[in-house]
Amino acid sequence: MRVAELAAHGGPEVLVAGSRPVPEPAADQLLVRVAACGVCGHDALARRGLLAAPVGSVLGHEIAGRVEAAGVDVVGDWVGRRVALVQRIPCGRCPECAAGTTARCRQGPGFYGEDLPGGYAEYVVASPLNAVPLPDAVDDVTGALLSCAVGTGLKALRTAGVRAGEVVLVTGAGGGVGVHTVQLARHLGATVVAVTGDAGKVAPLRDAGAAEVAVRPDGRELRRIAAGLDRPRGVDVVVETTGAPTFAVALRALRPGGRLVLVGNTVPGDLPLDPGLVIVRELAVLGSAHAARADLEEVVDLVARGAVHPLAAQVWPLTEAAAAHAALDARTLVGRAVLRP
Ligand SMILES: [Zn+2]
Ligand SMILES: [Zn+2]
Repeated sequence: MRVAELAAHGGPEVLVAGSRPVPEPAADQLLVRVAACGVCGHDALARRGLLAAPVGSVLGHEIAGRVEAAGVDVVGDWVGRRVALVQRIPCGRCPECAAGTTARCRQGPGFYGEDLPGGYAEYVVASPLNAVPLPDAVDDVTGALLSCAVGTGLKALRTAGVRAGEVVLVTGAGGGVGVHTVQLARHLGATVVAVTGDAGKVAPLRDAGAAEVAVRPDGRELRRIAAGLDRPRGVDVVVETTGAPTFAVALRALRPGGRLVLVGNTVPGDLPLDPGLVIVRELAVLGSAHAARADLEEVVDLVARGAVHPLAAQVWPLTEAAAAHAALDARTLVGRAVLRP
């Protein structure tokens, strides 16, 4: 089968065409023919050698496709079904899997593009533990966006325990995870303050449901906005999708007892955390990784019902993976880049 693989760590040009044998699904696995695979900021970090993907890896963890075969131990009618996949195949047996916290499982086949070959390919293996059937109303390209670009935000909002009536500040709100987090927080009944670095994204973020949109705000502006939303001591929750560029000001925007969830790390490195602020305000700083299968099921349902509208994607053929990465690096994309084999 054809793949795009990492010839080295570096710029977009290190993504080159390659070929591999079609993978053999284990007895409890599915063989999925990839129909679409999203290109994520995570992939750009992996390409540069900043994550756990060695040279030779096939990246891609945002996968939708059709089940072509199932191992002998697979229960249920999977062959022929269109599916979206969670980024990790968990083991299904460890204490984390039993608790439903499958993003923490380290005993299964693992994370696409790092622990096992990813979706920049014609086929991947999957499992009933990470595959969710797609209804006809959700096309393949949209399906590829659901677990990472949408499900990450849902998982983060659940990790923060967001309740209806709370005020949620979303940083990096114009980005792929951010804009869907705005929609999902609205869906959960929260009032949303969207923070973006791009003045051109104010109108789309209002359309996505943000009550307020702030462009590169300082602490004073965020306090003014929060006070206007009946939160004179600060917002209830921050979903931080960018990391270093916004963390310090976002943390200061929280009310006493507020919660900040880190989901994005666009500029890897340490963050400035004022311990006095965290102690005196009794803040919670949490991490949230990727969706579990139950989160993806909920996202598929929300999208099929029209409650959440995934950001439109731009599609490249798999053979132009390097061009898709160049567009990602240049930040010229409107919506997610998606590769189709
Ligand atoms: Zn992703
Ligand atoms: Zn497990």
